[in-house]
Amino acid sequence: AFLAAVRDREPKLKSFMTVDEADVRKQAAAVDAKRAAGQPLGKLAGVPVAVKDVLCTKGMRTTCSSKILDGFVPPYDAHVVERLRAEDAVILGKTNMDEFAMGSSTENSAYQTSRNPWDVSRIPGGSSGGSAAAVAGCQAPLSLGTDTGGSIRQPAALCGIVGIKPTYGRVSRYGLIAFASSLDQVGPFTHDVTDCALMMEVVSGHDGRDSTSIDTPVPAYTKTLNDPIAGLRIGVPKEFFGEGLDSEVEGAVRAALMEYEKRGAKLVDVSLPHSPYALAAYYIVAPAEASSNLARFDGMHYGHRTKEKADLIATYSKSRGEGFGPEVQRRIMIGTYVLSSGYKDAYYVKALKVRRLVKKDYDEAFEKCDVVMGPTTPTAAFKAGEKSGDPLAMYLSDVYTVSCNLAGIPGVSIPCGFTKDKLPIGLQLLCPPFEEERMLRAARMYE
Ligand code: GLN
Repeated sequence: AFLAAVRDREPKLKSFMTVDEADVRKQAAAVDAKRAAGQPLGKLAGVPVAVKDVLCTKGMRTTCSSKILDGFVPPYDAHVVERLRAEDAVILGKTNMDEFAMGSSTENSAYQTSRNPWDVSRIPGGSSGGSAAAVAGCQAPLSLGTDTGGSIRQPAALCGIVGIKPTYGRVSRYGLIAFASSLDQVGPFTHDVTDCALMMEVVSGHDGRDSTSIDTPVPAYTKTLNDPIAGLRIGVPKEFFGEGLDSEVEGAVRAALMEYEKRGAKLVDVSLPHSPYALAAYYIVAPAEASSNLARFDGMHYGHRTKEKADLIATYSKSRGEGFGPEVQRRIMIGTYVLSSGYKDAYYVKALKVRRLVKKDYDEAFEKCDVVMGPTTPTAAFKAGEKSGDPLAMYLSDVYTVSCNLAGIPGVSIPCGFTKDKLPIGLQLLCPPFEEERMLRAARMYE
């Protein structure tokens, strides 16, 4: 049924980079065989899952939606893909994304722009736009994305589904092609919070192959999910309701907060005084790490190599010039600049100090509340092409999501209503590190 849905909707949605029908049927048949033989089955037995094309899949091409990885077929699975297979999920295909996860609309894909199933003249958000569109468009019941500065929560909000960025270190990054290693986390897109809790049980947990993976037990999120939190204290930061917030988005978020109050929660004013600087700090730290991570794509080890005859250095630079799209080149240039001697202290080191202050703001806010809530995005889904010529306008779509990554805390976006034009609106919930269980219970209270 899902293969049929992919075939049917793909011409409009363009969610997928790769779907190998024969392989999908083979995986499904293997689960059927296991069932027929009476063998124990995993938590996701036979359930199709779409996987963002930044995660390595053994034997299946992995592009990061970049020309530079053209022809790259990983010899191993990412940790999260191993976990899905161990629970008998069926990997349905690889989803479109902004090249190397840099963007907020999927328009930076070197191949195609995914579209929002609610209005195909609009973008689904990004960078995990293909994974969000696949779930919202019912081409897949579940998918995986990655979130460096909002790339799961922002598209989840714009597509009217649930998307979670776990605590940094909760989910292994092994086999995730790195964008900004200190910010990247993998997480699921789902239709509801119950599915999200189940996916979190599957993908979370320690992995010795990622040195930042934390060895702490994974709670059985699905077991406690339906227990509302008595006396839940919701922190409402005034900085999340300032200039630039669309009035319809604000209205829906405030209505959701009132609904929480009706269900017994208490609203508490909190302040995140450094959040106005979070976006600037993010757009220094993330490109800095990206410029270093992307140095490995040299036309020698993987993917695209220039056809022009050139010496070694020119082969590197021509391959990179041909293989990387404009946004990736912009990030590499910014990142190299802010790390260069003479500028490092003024930019990179200063951004790290701001990052520390952003984290401190959250620590202080969580002394007064159990969960922080606000809008996920300043506006609903925008039209394709509306912001693609203006990088700064595009970067502003992440204004409420980046501080969570800088602080390393978990965040989830859940649907909380629609605009007059029937475009979905997202409510963002944020919790202290490793409090996903609390965050999911609080999210479930609203459904
Ligand atoms: N839109 C942000 C960026 O372009 C976040 C991307 C992400 O989370 N991968 O960097």
